[in-house]
Amino acid sequence: MVIFAINFIPMLIDSHCHLYGEEFKEDIEKVIERAEAAGVRKFYLPGIDSSAIDSMLALEARFPGKCQPMMGLHPCYVKENYLDELAIVEDWLSRRSFAAVGEIGLDHYWDTTFAVQQVHAFKTQIEWSIRFNLPIVIHTRNAMQETIEIVKIYQKQGIRGIFHCFSGSYESATEIIKAGFYLGIGGVLTYKKAGLAEVIEKIGLEHLVIETDAPYLTPVPFRGKGNESSYLTYVVARLAEIKQCSIEEVAAVTSANAEKIFVL
Ligand SMILES: [Zn+2]
Ligand SMILES: [Zn+2]
Repeated sequence: MVIFAINFIPMLIDSHCHLYGEEFKEDIEKVIERAEAAGVRKFYLPGIDSSAIDSMLALEARFPGKCQPMMGLHPCYVKENYLDELAIVEDWLSRRSFAAVGEIGLDHYWDTTFAVQQVHAFKTQIEWSIRFNLPIVIHTRNAMQETIEIVKIYQKQGIRGIFHCFSGSYESATEIIKAGFYLGIGGVLTYKKAGLAEVIEKIGLEHLVIETDAPYLTPVPFRGKGNESSYLTYVVARLAEIKQCSIEEVAAVTSANAEKIFVL
């Protein structure tokens, strides 16, 4: 006999959220509580730069087995001192296990002053992911093709991971999947003008993971306010609508994908 639970909440994984940020300092307990009530069981925390490491690891200690840290230098934080920052990343990677190397990549949206250094930092951290056998979580903005080309250089060495906050074209999505990567889908999917729904309609769920990128990229209907992990349900609902499947199926497939990718 099959028994169906009445208020069944599917298990969700927020594959990318900055819950260690200042924004959550006052009410992190409540944020986690609301997320768990919405079905979110795990929270993957991307690294930014050395100033964020202490609060990230403190959150892991406070919610062990739930909040899982990554380690990496974000492209927007590649500045004059980036070699010192990279040395800190390498030191941490050699000391303990992390869920992934991330978030790393290229961002030419705000500033291109350190474009060359961004490439160097990205490649160096990809090489460390190979050395420590970790997946990578990629951040790319206004640099999609350049990012894909760099990934291709290392493709034969078995690199794997996520292009987080994917909002590119169908062609880019296909190239990313061919390179063995997953697409991280978040609040942008709920923005009508983004055109992402049309792309994702043609991509199988088996290539997707879901994320909030909280406190950024808040989904509709809360767009304009701060984002939090409980809002992941709006991404799931929109994804189910686009893929014409159940919320349970979206939850099951994307959670299984996330568990396949991450080390912790
Ligand atoms: Zn990012
Ligand atoms: Zn992020």
